[in-house]
Amino acid sequence: MQVRCAFRRNFGSLSIDGPLSETSRWRAIVRVLRSPVDIIGSALLPACCTLCGSPLPRLSSVPICDACWTEIPVQSGVVCRCCGDSLDSPVVEGNAATYVCRACRISPPAFARAVSFGTYDGRLRDAIHALKYDRMHPAARKLGAMLAETIAPLSSEAPAGMLVVPVPLHRTKHRQRGFNQARALAQGAIDALRRSHPEWKLVLASSTLMRLRATDTQAGLTPTQRRKNVRGAFRVTDSGAVRERHVLLVDDILTTGATARAAAQSLIKAGAASVYVATLARARRLNSNASSDHAARVAQDAFADMHSSSSSHQPAS
Ligand SMILES: [Zn+2]
Ligand SMILES: [Zn+2]
Repeated sequence: MQVRCAFRRNFGSLSIDGPLSETSRWRAIVRVLRSPVDIIGSALLPACCTLCGSPLPRLSSVPICDACWTEIPVQSGVVCRCCGDSLDSPVVEGNAATYVCRACRISPPAFARAVSFGTYDGRLRDAIHALKYDRMHPAARKLGAMLAETIAPLSSEAPAGMLVVPVPLHRTKHRQRGFNQARALAQGAIDALRRSHPEWKLVLASSTLMRLRATDTQAGLTPTQRRKNVRGAFRVTDSGAVRERHVLLVDDILTTGATARAAAQSLIKAGAASVYVATLARARRLNSNASSDHAARVAQDAFADMHSSSSSHQPAS
């Protein structure tokens, strides 16, 4: 029989899709109440895994057990070589490694390639919730190392020197959350890559990109709404800093790619030579039919958007 801790924190029960003001208020209250409870609890009780509630064999700044780390789902199967979206194997013929999805063929994104470590599900989803909503900052180190595993294979095709740009939060959300999880993940990934690939010059540039609007949360929006939500939402603060530079854009989750497309487009417009995208998690579509329809809608939206808003859109080389 598995022993469970009395003060298990069930992040899976926290909704991130509800109205922001309500959930933020509750989280703030829970955080204030939790601190003294945690101090007393850790003195009287053995530490518990934040995700599954099992007792931990030792105290740790990252209270996640080894079993939960190993349960984190890694993205597998055939993916689009451009946006990294999972593809249904029946639609892929020939060399799967070079397959580009319909959305990317119709409207190539401004980024050269997007890669993700795992699927936004199960323990990875729980761990990202713990990082973002419970401010479990030390988890960013291990999660960043996982992100680094995904970035590492790019070293053979990506430039030898890159600016690492975390997708920024709007200042209002930054103030609410207290930190930008994308920046924490980027720093964790850079630290790991400095050890594994010391020759690769990766420089964190966390103030290069700015979020102009406090966009609504993307959760629950249709692909079209997501694109409109982030259209024109980013600006490069100093074009000189990115001109002719290669950029690695980092975020925690990629769903439709609308945010990555918008951010990459801003960087390319400001003169960046190329943009690669790396996210810790990729949200999976619900089923293959929805995926196919969704891909077509994203492509149609992107095509219309490209021709209505800008004539200077250029895919990265
Ligand atoms: Zn666990
Ligand atoms: Zn694609």
